[in-house]
Amino acid sequence: MLLSGKLNKIRTAALLLVFISIIVMYLGFVWPAVMSIFIALGLILISVSVGIYFWIGVLSTHAPHVMCPVCQKKTKVLGKKDECSHCKAILSLDPNDAPQDKPK
Ligand SMILES: [Zn+2]
Repeated sequence: MLLSGKLNKIRTAALLLVFISIIVMYLGFVWPAVMSIFIALGLILISVSVGIYFWIGVLSTHAPHVMCPVCQKKTKVLGKKDECSHCKAILSLDPNDAPQDKPK
């Protein structure tokens, strides 16, 4: 779980957060007495998700581009290990995970 398609996972989480904040704001209309509290809460959640989107943008510009050896498409590797965003193959930048050609 930790190694798989991090950028996509964070993106999904941020999208879910947007939906949650819309639901929270909608609850304000259902319950008019505390509407302002729900609206404020929803706006806070939306600004958090905007922050997450911005953070993803920064992360993805820093992530190195690699050619996936399995599907021959370009993908990004976040951290030392990540999943190919096209075919879910696990890619690693760690030299310890390089295939060992020479017998020890
Ligand atoms: Zn791939």
